Amino acid sequence: MARVYQFDICAFLVLCIIIFSLIVRKLIKGRANKMFLVLVVVTLGCTIADMVSVAPMSSMGGVGPEVRIAASYVYYIVHASILPVYSIFIGLVSGTWYVYMRDNLKVKLMFSMPYALNILLVLINPFNHWIMRFPGGNYRRGPHVWIIYCIAFFYMLNTFVYLVRHKETIDRSRMIAFTSIYPITLVSTVVQFFFPEYLIEMFALTTSLLILLFFVIKPEESFDATSGARNITAFKNDTKKLYFEGNAGSVLLVKVKNDNSLVTLYGLNAHQTVVRKAVARMERVFAEYTMKSYIYNIYYLSYGMFAILMTGKYDPDKLCDDIEKALAKPIRLGDIGFCFENSLCLLDVPKDIPTHEELMSFVDTYDKSEVESGSIIYSNLGEQDKIRFKFDIDKYIERGFANDNFKVYFQPIYSIKQKRFISAEALLRLIDDEIGFISPALFIPAAEKSGAIYQIGDFVIDSVFRFIRDHDLEKLGLEYIEINISTMQCMKEDFVDNVKKKMREYGISNKSFNFEITETASDFLQDVLSRTVTKLHKAGIEFAIDDYGTGYSNLHRILQEPIKIIKLDKSLADDLANVRTKAVLMSTMQMINAIGAESVIEGVETKETADWFIANRCDYIQGYYYARPMPEDDFVDFIQANNAAV
Ligand code: C2E
Ligand code: CA
Ligand code: CA
Repeated sequence: MARVYQFDICAFLVLCIIIFSLIVRKLIKGRANKMFLVLVVVTLGCTIADMVSVAPMSSMGGVGPEVRIAASYVYYIVHASILPVYSIFIGLVSGTWYVYMRDNLKVKLMFSMPYALNILLVLINPFNHWIMRFPGGNYRRGPHVWIIYCIAFFYMLNTFVYLVRHKETIDRSRMIAFTSIYPITLVSTVVQFFFPEYLIEMFALTTSLLILLFFVIKPEESFDATSGARNITAFKNDTKKLYFEGNAGSVLLVKVKNDNSLVTLYGLNAHQTVVRKAVARMERVFAEYTMKSYIYNIYYLSYGMFAILMTGKYDPDKLCDDIEKALAKPIRLGDIGFCFENSLCLLDVPKDIPTHEELMSFVDTYDKSEVESGSIIYSNLGEQDKIRFKFDIDKYIERGFANDNFKVYFQPIYSIKQKRFISAEALLRLIDDEIGFISPALFIPAAEKSGAIYQIGDFVIDSVFRFIRDHDLEKLGLEYIEINISTMQCMKEDFVDNVKKKMREYGISNKSFNFEITETASDFLQDVLSRTVTKLHKAGIEFAIDDYGTGYSNLHRILQEPIKIIKLDKSLADDLANVRTKAVLMSTMQMINAIGAESVIEGVETKETADWFIANRCDYIQGYYYARPMPEDDFVDFIQANNAAV
């Protein structure tokens, strides 16, 4: 009977193309990718053996019977490995393999015994011909070949159960690809059983591998086009695997603080070049370590934020220092050298951060947090560090509400013209029972992320409105209280209506308070702000622009809004030694006056600074020099004592 091995030839060609493409597209890094390559190579070996085993006989210009027989043995041995390798591959892709195998002798035995039995059966076949015989040099199935089928069935079943049990760790398209092997194998086995002359089994398997190549090996899904490094999705997946497998590793976060100015000054193109060069430098650091007893990956998570994940044997502190040094040298862009202002954070996981969710939330908040440039934080985060990076801050916010630990403080604002305190800024305080004071600069951003900001916002407005209701502002010599609101609050449709409702509820006037809003860089948020401001203005509620001069400020834009107050940021008051800052401040304050608005300087700590602003016609001063933020009762006492003297 002539065997039809054209299918094997097709399989052979396709497998060669797969291997070629894996190598050319550099898809052979990482354990899962390597295992896929092994799977393809094993399948290729099997296909070749299959072809040789049915090659024309020497009498017909082909090979001798010994070669065909030997090829059949090779075929059975190599074939035995395909399904076990396939199982390992799935385990590696889903990141569950090491968990499944670790320290579990029973599982290890269950997984390897059938394979060993398969090999053994092939090895003893020359003596008992259970699996195959070769009458006249032609291959025939042996009487006990069913054992081989049973073993194959066992591995298929095993893999299937594995897939079902770990379905959460595998996405949909991958799941479909992994399970597609079942119908394909079933059809090919049935066909080959009834038409043994058609050698379609290897071809069917090759088809499955093609499906895996398309749906499982997806590099575009894990690479960032800007930097050429891996992207945030890959970071999430890789760290998730690390946690799942219970392995230890280090995560190094590199935050480029001046990334934004790079984009603004030089444009996106230059930015991309610099980012790529930075990635290349980090790669070089790793390449310099001759003893490669670690695995690492570099990720570009967002603008100005890199991460490196390392596992294996190495000194993380030293690597961290080396990365820092490598990035410290200016990166050349034509004839300018761009200097990164970095801050690094090295985490031991899972020691520093026990769960994957917490790690992701930490990375997020580290990205947004204000960290000093040049700072390196080494692992072993203390309680304070954790707070500093809003680690688990949601818990403290929740507890703050439960235990009534939120308090609104008031910081008096001094009027230069009237020589008395005419207003105050309401500042929220969270004093936790266990760890004490938590800065609003930390919990406000976290609350914006979690949505707790709405509850917080309502709390502050209620507290301030109640204060206004219960005290006669005029008698105290105060005109209004300033309330901070975040853009998130502005984004809520019913924000303005809600404020109006509360005004009626507390019976207070729209002149007794105003809102402070921070200008942002984003067009979208600017539009949101603009709409809210217009609505507030219609309701007769004034507002102040906060933190003016912190980088995002756009005077041109601000001028288009009906604003009453512009609050100059503390950094400007701190920089009076700089002649340029002085010049900018003078013209800014002039401009503010010219449009009929008023200026407040924040964060004035010394008499010297206060005097300068008084001399240069600022309208109001706020700062520790006059008064710190204080609890309600102290504030009332303070105002009564100070304003009465005027
Ligand atoms: P901000 O609106 O710029 O508030 C001014 C900050 O400067 C306050 O910090 C205040 O305590 C501090 N400050 C005032 N004078 C001086 C000074 O002379 N020297 C120094 N070093 N600092 C001074 P605080 O209270 O820690 O608040 C930080 C930020 O948290 C605020 O910045 C504001 O953005 C936000 N925040 C505070 N309360 C609220 C709130 O009720 N709602 C919202 N959405 N944000 C709030
Ligand atoms: Ca403010
Ligand atoms: Ca401010």
